Amino acid sequence: MKYAVSVRALCEFSAKCGDLDLRFTPAPSAEEGMAGHKVVTARRPSQYQAEISLSGEYKHLLVRGRADGFDPALNQLEEIKTFRGELGMMPDNHRQLHWAQVRIYGWLLCQKLGLPRICLALVYFDIVRKKEVMLSETQEGGALKAHFNDQCERFLNWAEQELIHRAGCNEALIHLTFPHGSFRTGQRQLAEAVYKAAVLGRCLIAQAPTGIGKTIGTLFPLLKAWPGQKLDKVFFLTAKTSGRRLALDALRFMKRNCAQPTVGLRVLELVAREKACEHPDKACHGASCPLANGFYDRLPQARSAALALAGTDVLDKDALRALAREHRVCPYYLSQDLIQWSDVIVGDYNHYFDLGAILYGLTVANQWTVGVLVDEAHNLIGRARKMYTAELDQAHFQSARRSAPVQLGKVLARLSRCWNAFSKESAEAYRVYSAVPDSFLAALQQAVNAITEYLTENPDGIDGELQRFYFDSLRFTRICETFDEHSLFDVTADVKNKKAGGVKKRTSRTRSVPVVLCLRNVIPAPLIAPRFAVAQSTVLFSATLSPYRFYSDMVGLPQNTGWVDVESPFKPEQLLVKVVSNISTRYRHREASIPPIVDLISWQYLQKPGNYLAFFSSFDYLQRVTLQFRSSHPSIPIWEQRPGMDEIEQDVFLARFTATSQGIGFAVLGGSFAEGVDLPGSRLSGAFIATLGLPQVNPVNEQLRRRMDTMLNAGYDYTYFFPGMQKVVQAAGRVIRTQSDRGIIYLIDDRFARPDVRRLLPGWWKTERFQGA
Ligand code: SF4
Repeated sequence: MKYAVSVRALCEFSAKCGDLDLRFTPAPSAEEGMAGHKVVTARRPSQYQAEISLSGEYKHLLVRGRADGFDPALNQLEEIKTFRGELGMMPDNHRQLHWAQVRIYGWLLCQKLGLPRICLALVYFDIVRKKEVMLSETQEGGALKAHFNDQCERFLNWAEQELIHRAGCNEALIHLTFPHGSFRTGQRQLAEAVYKAAVLGRCLIAQAPTGIGKTIGTLFPLLKAWPGQKLDKVFFLTAKTSGRRLALDALRFMKRNCAQPTVGLRVLELVAREKACEHPDKACHGASCPLANGFYDRLPQARSAALALAGTDVLDKDALRALAREHRVCPYYLSQDLIQWSDVIVGDYNHYFDLGAILYGLTVANQWTVGVLVDEAHNLIGRARKMYTAELDQAHFQSARRSAPVQLGKVLARLSRCWNAFSKESAEAYRVYSAVPDSFLAALQQAVNAITEYLTENPDGIDGELQRFYFDSLRFTRICETFDEHSLFDVTADVKNKKAGGVKKRTSRTRSVPVVLCLRNVIPAPLIAPRFAVAQSTVLFSATLSPYRFYSDMVGLPQNTGWVDVESPFKPEQLLVKVVSNISTRYRHREASIPPIVDLISWQYLQKPGNYLAFFSSFDYLQRVTLQFRSSHPSIPIWEQRPGMDEIEQDVFLARFTATSQGIGFAVLGGSFAEGVDLPGSRLSGAFIATLGLPQVNPVNEQLRRRMDTMLNAGYDYTYFFPGMQKVVQAAGRVIRTQSDRGIIYLIDDRFARPDVRRLLPGWWKTERFQGA
């Protein structure tokens, strides 16, 4: 059996040494890199061959990759590297790595074409100045072969160990048995659908109720399908830390408790850099951070130790931190290196779906066959929109400009004039443009280039404000490259109101208010779809993924995507669902709705004292109801969600719900207590849900509605109705968590009686009209 390795991965393993050094960054984005490659290859003569697939073998290694270009007339092989900044600042170990790569390609090409010697060129393309710097050397085939053999030899022991690991894992996975003995109701149906999707190599949307064990119900079948589908990796992606923890616990359990334990399966947790960094006050290079200094020299030992530990336990954040400390390497960059050698990677959505996502990038670069599980997938639309949205705030720009070095004065002044043009053009506080004006974009690009150059010469020469503006601008220009009809470009004045979307009409007195420019993603589908395309199979699962068409349209699932609506383990008699249709919670009826809602909640509480959650569509509504509730029923204990609660405050809020406590928690729909909260048994007796959770009608949402009407012919449903109902069902899902739970839900609004609304409620619910307190 051959062990396949990419040229890049081989060289990174065998030829990288010295410090970790991110000073030569921000590197060009993938799009900029591809565009740079195109510019260079377009300059070459007609006989030039771009993107040549090459491969070669050494003992049981298969080395493969794609060389950037070959000019037969010059007998010259080129490796193109894009960069911004000063080439002289590139660390030596980066250059050595590039030479190692091009020399391997050189040998593979010599071998393929029978060439006795070849000219090798490293072409560094400055994406800002559009200039090339070429470094070249001529090498004899024999010398290149010796270099290739030497690199392979250094990797061989590792490859042998990897082959043994893969064979052992495959054997264990073939005989893998379900770790809990028997499946729960619905869990088998889910597992079978996931297995089938993996075998057929397609995507699946799985709507599966809470309480059936979705984490293990999706991981188990995908692991089972692994050997047959020759998977390289499984990615388990979550929206929240709690989901990551559940997945790691499930995998730890499987490693230890399966009949043929999958002990060797290497499980890695990925976390954001700011959560892993040991020296947040330092920069990522050897002169600043001790864990970056000599990082690549100590990495091999740290890597070996990590994989030894992975044989018995999962490599979660804490385990990696301890290992990294022991070997004096950065835990964050250690985890990045370990992706290559791990089997199951548990991370956040953005590790795969973001524009520069590492898991997606490595999958493409290494041609991995991957299975992807997307946990609580109803969050993917909102999260993806954020990933593909960029904002530039003029107020931030103005304060950055005030503290900027004098050398940047001219370009920032020009940018400021272009920015002010938005204010002059329109008296509207919110306006949508068809695209970012070329003049603004040119001025922004010029500012970015000038700051990059300044930073090259003065690495520590800019303050926090300018740095923030610089990174925001880089992101903005990057997102702008993907701008299309899936997104809006809008300009909002009056920063105070922009978050709520409550944009006021501007007056002459507000003309000088700074404006916020936003490239706002509306439909993430075109940007997500390529990520589904490279995976062998992707499973999106959650308790609320109805209607199918909404999720499929919004995230861009392929036509042949499967759908399973898993049977609920709960019985209708476990839950009373009362529709309170004599109350309207429409905005214009809010004030009038407060007294009957207070009466209803207190009546239910006095009938059956226990713990309840009452959900409202906004903090304003929530506060008005609690104010009245407190004054009318001072003896009933209540606790209230407040905006921006941190994790400790949230824990305190939830700790009030004990098996013996009694009281009412007031919370907002779509907030931290409306999903992912587990309060089984008497910790929660019931919930009140006031309103359909429809997002506020405001200028931004109205633009989303229009765009989705034009593109998907479903503006109202996709902007307001479906997202609102998804929040309702998620919040109501807090009540019944186990097969022994009993509870009650009040759906407060006359619209809950409408057939189109009831169709979006879980099928096992039996609703009845509330006859009055
Ligand atoms: S510890 Fe922090 S500063 Fe040091 S290399 Fe790692 S991420 Fe960078």
